[in-house]
Amino acid sequence: MSYITHQTKNIILASNAGFCYGVKRAVETTKKLKAENPDKEICVLGELIHNSQVIKELNDLGIKTVETLPEKGCGYCVVRSHGASFDVFEEIKNKGFELVDLTCPDVKKVQDKAIELVQEGYFLVILGKGAHPEVMAIRANAARHTCDDNVFVAQNLEELKEIENTIKKKSKVGIVVQTTQRAEFLQEIVAYLAPIVKELKIANTICRSTTLRQNEAREVAQKSDLMIVVGSKKSANTTHLAEILVDITKTIHIENASELKNFKNEIQNAQTIGITAGASTPDYIINEVIDSVK
Ligand code: SF4
Repeated sequence: MSYITHQTKNIILASNAGFCYGVKRAVETTKKLKAENPDKEICVLGELIHNSQVIKELNDLGIKTVETLPEKGCGYCVVRSHGASFDVFEEIKNKGFELVDLTCPDVKKVQDKAIELVQEGYFLVILGKGAHPEVMAIRANAARHTCDDNVFVAQNLEELKEIENTIKKKSKVGIVVQTTQRAEFLQEIVAYLAPIVKELKIANTICRSTTLRQNEAREVAQKSDLMIVVGSKKSANTTHLAEILVDITKTIHIENASELKNFKNEIQNAQTIGITAGASTPDYIINEVIDSVK
């Protein structure tokens, strides 16, 4: 973390803020692909990252975001860091696109671990948001290796409790975790499952980047009267950061510097202000927030 003293206020900036390596790799590789192939069509299946400014920048470069694949492919189709299911990969190739797989290696590890667990006969519990593309792909790929009702996605303890009777009948239960979840969520689920299942295998697949980001943000929050979390409200990792920090100190979650005007009182009343950002927040947006706070 770095410290900035400005007039009467202290600003603490988390070092693990902004693009993680998986997002950086996805953005840089996609831009490089376009620069090297200016005449070729490039589309990304789903938003490359959850940041509207970056999506606009890519669009201006001629890199289109598509939510569904057209009937016939042309040029490159990029799979973003969240990954995609085996069936989607096949569809991209069958429709005639050249596939560019930018699945983050850490997401790939969760997919592989999920498949390994179901192949070993575990009832698989995926901790994460069912509608999140990363979780959808992990689920779909694991389900190809077992029956569909042997995989369950839970985004909170209550959802898991709803299938308690089913779980108690399973001899082996395995857990994988969406890469950007909170460690506290995993701990809560393990504490619930451990006494009611015969065998529990836990793969803590929260990625290293998320762990470092969350741990450092906690440290910064403990020293701050106000935490500012910068990043899209659609970004899972940014939202989780804000959820963690709100239990430690006063926390606001903004997408960019223009939203700071809504929090003038909070900023004026704080002596020490901590700033962190989600994995899909570009440096220039973080710097604009720092400048505005100053
Ligand atoms: S948050 Fe973690 S898993 Fe997701 S892209 Fe970044 S490094 Fe990869």
